[in-house]
Amino acid sequence: MNQKGDEVLETALRRGFIWPSFEIYGGAAGFYDYGPLGSALKNNIIAEWRRVFVVEEGCLEIDTPTVVPFEVLKASGHVDHFLDAMVECTRCKGAFKAVDLLKEQAGVDMEGKSVKEMSKAIRERGVRCPDCGGELGEVFEFNAMFKTAVGPGSKRQAFLRPETAQGIFVDFRRLYRHGRGKLPLGVVQIGRGYRNEISPRQGMIRLREFTMAEAEVFFDPKNPVHPGFERVASERLRLWLAKDQSAGSEQITEVTAADAVRQKLVCNQLMAYYLALTVQLLRRLGIPESAVRFREQLPGQRAHYSVETWDAEVHTQRYGWIEIAGFAYRTDYDLSRHMQHSGEDLTAFIEERKEKVVCHVVEPSFGIDRIFYCVLEHSLATEGKRKILKLKPYIAPIQAGVFPLVTKDGLPERARQIERELRTAGLRVEYDESGSIGRRYARADEVGVPFCVTVDHQTLEDNTVTIRDRDTAKQVRVSIENLAEVLKRLIEGTLSIESLGGQES
Ligand SMILES: [Zn+2]
Repeated sequence: MNQKGDEVLETALRRGFIWPSFEIYGGAAGFYDYGPLGSALKNNIIAEWRRVFVVEEGCLEIDTPTVVPFEVLKASGHVDHFLDAMVECTRCKGAFKAVDLLKEQAGVDMEGKSVKEMSKAIRERGVRCPDCGGELGEVFEFNAMFKTAVGPGSKRQAFLRPETAQGIFVDFRRLYRHGRGKLPLGVVQIGRGYRNEISPRQGMIRLREFTMAEAEVFFDPKNPVHPGFERVASERLRLWLAKDQSAGSEQITEVTAADAVRQKLVCNQLMAYYLALTVQLLRRLGIPESAVRFREQLPGQRAHYSVETWDAEVHTQRYGWIEIAGFAYRTDYDLSRHMQHSGEDLTAFIEERKEKVVCHVVEPSFGIDRIFYCVLEHSLATEGKRKILKLKPYIAPIQAGVFPLVTKDGLPERARQIERELRTAGLRVEYDESGSIGRRYARADEVGVPFCVTVDHQTLEDNTVTIRDRDTAKQVRVSIENLAEVLKRLIEGTLSIESLGGQES
């Protein structure tokens, strides 16, 4: 923990971005509420994701249940493999994630190691219960899915979904037909996923219920290409290769997406395409490429369905590097398993070769809550005494504040009118008349309002208002007639306050 991270969470809590869930009952670890500003910001982040994957990429979006029958997750391997290594204190019965304790107390990364190896390491390195100092028992595996049942008194076992992906795989036949048999076929789903974490202690980073945005890209295994690859070919990727990690090196290999494919650093062109797209998406959300790297997972770390996985990691001051997205090459694992278990034909037909194939899948999967945290941390700036949340205007929860300079002489009434007009024009605005104008600007800066509209005495004479720009504090006078249009263009970034003649006030 450190000052910057504390400041981010303190601001987020105080200003209604996030709140601990079930707070009046003492709270529950691993759950967070999004407050009014947080919900809006999260929705706007999702809208950007959707703009990329659905609007620009043309992926099909579906929405499937979060409750999933046992058979589906048995077939997908989650019943047998979605496991966390857990250890209990023999004295206080506290439960812990073995990997976390080993990292914290012994400084070793045992992710992907067997429970035997972890038990041995705990004994040898004298790892104890962090709560009472008691002795720890043997490490064992715990299935991290939330269990439930479908129907009253029913024996039909089910789980809350650990990923949205399975809802896509089981619908493959309909999706393939809907997409008229074209490959690659991208299908996305955005929604809640669940992981019954043993002891989440990292705030927003380790949640038991979270929002995922996943894409399953189905392709002909003999033709793993993306028709739009040229668009991202020169995008630079910062790769932390498995061989460097194994050698204990933090060396980053920086290559273009095209070179990553040419030098076979990534498994195929589709994988490189989605890594590059992610750099672009994060940049648009305000996270610079210098704070992004792609970590190739070591063989023992990969999920049971993947033969190559890259994690997109973003650097944060509070938590160090955190994984915000995973890119798994799932091969034909899921479709083949569902074919075996359901007895249905989930193949595709390759016209050119007159051949039936089981599609392979590359899966970009994003953790929206973690991206939300990274966006907040990377946006919060301190300039002298000013605290400014420099959110990109198009994702800001409030796009413009509307302030009467004083609360008399008809200014509040005129400002209310303008607020109404801007709302009607589709802008997310907020009216504020409490406190001095300086305090109102400061409050707006802190929650990332990019533009403030101030109504003053001159407004009553000539129908103009000032627009103040959050990041430069420059102001410009514009006619109310053009106000909504000007604000929209400022928010999109097709107009700048300087080009309007904005000046320091
Ligand atoms: Zn204990």
